[in-house]
Amino acid sequence: VNHESEQISVLGKDAQRVSAEYLRDVAHTKRFLERWTMDPSFRDRYTEDPAAAIGSLGLVLTAEQLDPLLSYSLATEITERLAAGEQDACPESVKRYRAFINEKKRHRAVTRNSGEPSDPRLAAWRARQVERCRGELGPSRAEAIVHAPVTFELSKGCTVGCWFCGVAAPDFDHNLEYTEENARLWTGVLEAVRDVVGEPASQGFLYWATDPLDNPDYESYLAEFHRVFGRCPQTTTAIAHKDVERTRRLLDLGASLGSFVDRFSIISLKFLDIVHEAFTPEEMLRVECVAQNRESSDKHLKSNSGRARQFANGKRASELAGEQTSSTIACVSGFLFNMVERSVKLITPCNSSDRWPLGYWIVDEGTFDTAEELRALLEKIIANNCRRYLGVDDTVRLRNDVRISVEDDRVLATSLGIATTLGPLPDAQDVARWLGEGALTVEQIATLREERSGVSPVETMVLLDQLFVRGLTNEEPAEPPASATPAPRGRARKVSVTLQSTR
Ligand code: SF4
Repeated sequence: VNHESEQISVLGKDAQRVSAEYLRDVAHTKRFLERWTMDPSFRDRYTEDPAAAIGSLGLVLTAEQLDPLLSYSLATEITERLAAGEQDACPESVKRYRAFINEKKRHRAVTRNSGEPSDPRLAAWRARQVERCRGELGPSRAEAIVHAPVTFELSKGCTVGCWFCGVAAPDFDHNLEYTEENARLWTGVLEAVRDVVGEPASQGFLYWATDPLDNPDYESYLAEFHRVFGRCPQTTTAIAHKDVERTRRLLDLGASLGSFVDRFSIISLKFLDIVHEAFTPEEMLRVECVAQNRESSDKHLKSNSGRARQFANGKRASELAGEQTSSTIACVSGFLFNMVERSVKLITPCNSSDRWPLGYWIVDEGTFDTAEELRALLEKIIANNCRRYLGVDDTVRLRNDVRISVEDDRVLATSLGIATTLGPLPDAQDVARWLGEGALTVEQIATLREERSGVSPVETMVLLDQLFVRGLTNEEPAEPPASATPAPRGRARKVSVTLQSTR
């Protein structure tokens, strides 16, 4: 990416200063790639007659501007030439599009880093979960997880009923209507969350196993969240096509409140046609299209998590990530609220399994009636579950996916994503054996090391604390609660929305 493009933000608050030509280059390239990714018949048309295919989308681009984005080898060559200072290695529009993608990656990293809760116990717990996920899920999947500190469901269930739903959303039941009473509760809940989690809770969003647009009052909740936190949450919806004028107003509202990115989940080609017809490429510059339609599955495998797990051995198996790949769509290490049930869970992503089919651990949970009760409940959950330090009486047990080995005088703790080296140690074989067995406490290991090898207990404490801080010790809840298992579904209801106050 050339230096000039790298400095330009097309998504942040400086976007108005970017020239129309620059924005058009990015927006049109993005529109082309959406069609290319999700529509195989378009790929065929482009191969036969690139100019006609581009023209059919109404885009002001040429094949020379697009081909560098379609071929891995060409893209690699361009990267190398740009790194060597060859500024004419590719068209300007390609540099601009690459800068746009880099801006989004930087934003994701900023989001993850600014989600650290103010409470030191919760912050330490979350930091360990970030480390654990890197090892358990592998670096590339972990890189995509922002570990948001909070998320809120404003409905019970989801009307969309995707077969692949990674969090196994139950059938739609009802919404939390924005009545005066519920609005008061909402404000109280947000303020309690701000007090306990701190300003980083502003990195939260307002959906989980729900579609935000199922709730006709979603925009009111969004605006109040912005008033309390000064930040507009990202919206992700699979029903943007249902009422395009509402969607347009929501996009305008999000843009006016400074939302960086919103997302449309594209679950069929027909939906893609509708949103491409309804919104110009420039209007959708801020909107990521998530390819979920069947035709794109050769490039975008779905996570083998939640409801999708039921199809892992069936005719849709080829659309799912294989056993050798880690699977989860969870992106929260913090509190998941359901405002209809007035419930809260402390959750964190994990590799989906029969034990944790939803792709996240439920560490603790509870219900509340008022904002005051919620405040006390959050404090209790943190106090009971979010440790800052390893205690001397704690048994040192590593995660089940961590393998221990010895290389010369070093101990290696290896998982899918990371190898952590301990040492050099005078007693590497002993330490490896005790860690592998997972039966001794911190104090017992410290005493044994001092007796056998003359290692000071303080050194041992520091060594074991490294394992704890890096998320290598086992913090998995002993028993998954009933809510960690997807509820059986009936047929997805066809009703769009039933308004009903819960209390
Ligand atoms: S993937 Fe999203 S839209 Fe689809 S059923 Fe699950 S929550 Fe609803």
